[in-house]
Amino acid sequence: MSDIKTAAKQVPYDFPDKTGHFGPFGGCFVAETLMPAIKELNHAFEQYAHTPEFQQEFDHDLAYFAGRPSPLYYARRWSEQLNGARIYLKREDLNHTGAHKINHAIGQILLAKYMGKKRIIAETGAGQHGVATATVAARLGLECVIYMGEKDVERQAANVYRMKLLGAEVIPVTTGARTLKDAINTAMRDWVSHVDDTFYLLGTVVGPKPYPEMNRMFQSVIGREARQQCLDLTGKLPDALVACIGGGSNAIGLFYPFINDTGVKMYGVEAGGKGIESGQHASLLSVDGPQGVLHGNRTYIMSDTAGNILDSHSVSAGLDYPGVGPEHAWLKSCERVEYVYALDEEALTAFRTLTRIEGIIPALETSHALAHVTKIAPKMHKDQIIIVNLSGRGDKDIHTVANIDGVKI
Ligand SMILES: *Cc1c(COP(=O)(O)O)cnc(C)c1O
Repeated sequence: MSDIKTAAKQVPYDFPDKTGHFGPFGGCFVAETLMPAIKELNHAFEQYAHTPEFQQEFDHDLAYFAGRPSPLYYARRWSEQLNGARIYLKREDLNHTGAHKINHAIGQILLAKYMGKKRIIAETGAGQHGVATATVAARLGLECVIYMGEKDVERQAANVYRMKLLGAEVIPVTTGARTLKDAINTAMRDWVSHVDDTFYLLGTVVGPKPYPEMNRMFQSVIGREARQQCLDLTGKLPDALVACIGGGSNAIGLFYPFINDTGVKMYGVEAGGKGIESGQHASLLSVDGPQGVLHGNRTYIMSDTAGNILDSHSVSAGLDYPGVGPEHAWLKSCERVEYVYALDEEALTAFRTLTRIEGIIPALETSHALAHVTKIAPKMHKDQIIIVNLSGRGDKDIHTVANIDGVKI
């Protein structure tokens, strides 16, 4: 372990390695039949994504289609209430389609275009990634197929309809627990049988190489902007960064551009669900759960002693995933990021607080990060700064909250 810590604290941070590993995590564990598709994608990522033309087009689309840069907003009343650090919100909720997911959707579809792919497939849980994917596919006029667990199709009717309006075909997945992990399995099987014309647009920083690195690259616009905005507004770097962790894309997007700034503390907040003892949670890193291979990479997973993947639980669908991006597993091992969890109950309280005190309705996913801010901000000095990633807006969640309140809307 001490070797790991020394290795990962090397400055500059230079992970993953050429095989897609972050220390012992990550890599590429896929069926032989998927290897040609993975090889082609890796090659295209290396060949195109770092060119000035690609970068220019990406920046253009982020600006004119997604509406970037997103503001760094000083939450004055909330900071005063907590009576500690100054809290700044990175407003990813103001992006087109209401969350950070549009960033990696725009990046990946651009790569699909460079590769000449005509058909886009994606998985989705709550439907947010499905909507972002259907959105960018509509814009480029590409065929779009979204795999979604049957259970989620029933629970998320509005997002299913949004995707259909955008021209996507939504295919309910009836295997396994009929939720997100089964949708990913089915999407990967589709990819195997349509390698020639199909691009798999993945919704977070999981999956085999190059997805974790690729989506990190597309999401790190969040941290690059936040770093500069913080310097412009306050004249210094933040003391702490806070973000929620589902697969980990909004968190790594904020963290990565600060990774060599050793004075900046980072907190990744997982879903504690109904409590760790209840087994109904999605906390893998903060409870030091088992490690294993899931969806093409080695990482922390939720599994029983026989290695079967268990169902996770969270009040927020976007954090309800039994795996986590391999880079977060690595950043935990080397103690660069501290992983903690917030319970459903704590997230709901934070959801209500931010809504009332700042006039911003946050996503329930984001509310987990906000809940952790309420724990650390009061212990910090008034001249210290926290940046929290406001990963998405909460309009999609008002039915869930109304339900909990016993209100019919
Ligand atoms: C999907 C989603 C998340 C979780 O995904 P990450 O890859 O961990 O960022 C968090 N917040 C919002 C608003 C989401 O839609």
